[in-house]
Amino acid sequence: MSKKITRKEFFQKIAFYGIGAAGVAGVLNSCGSSEEGGGSEAAKAPDPCGDTTGLTEMEIKVRTTFEYIPTSNVANKFCDNCQFWVLPAEGSPCGGCQIIKGPIHPKGYCNQWIIKTA
Ligand code: SF4
Repeated sequence: MSKKITRKEFFQKIAFYGIGAAGVAGVLNSCGSSEEGGGSEAAKAPDPCGDTTGLTEMEIKVRTTFEYIPTSNVANKFCDNCQFWVLPAEGSPCGGCQIIKGPIHPKGYCNQWIIKTA
């Protein structure tokens, strides 16, 4: 008696019920097999740039809202080739970002990525 719905119908229902993209992302992420998304060994390694100690609640929320992840899942788009990338301090594996506070992994990514032009 159960009816399978298509992806299009799924997203139409989400739009109808007013569930935002962040909520959908949270639901989809919760379906994963591990915290880091599973798969490669690199994805399972601890994130050296994951310490958000000292950031305000709002600054942490910005990281979440922009869907920052320490390992990019988009081909050829990484923090270190993004216009907003800030080079790491000498000896640090983590750089920074002009719009997201806190340590940023050079091979990370967020939905604000723009190709570095200079
Ligand atoms: S805007 Fe996003 S992709 Fe670009 S450096 Fe900052 S966190 Fe990385």
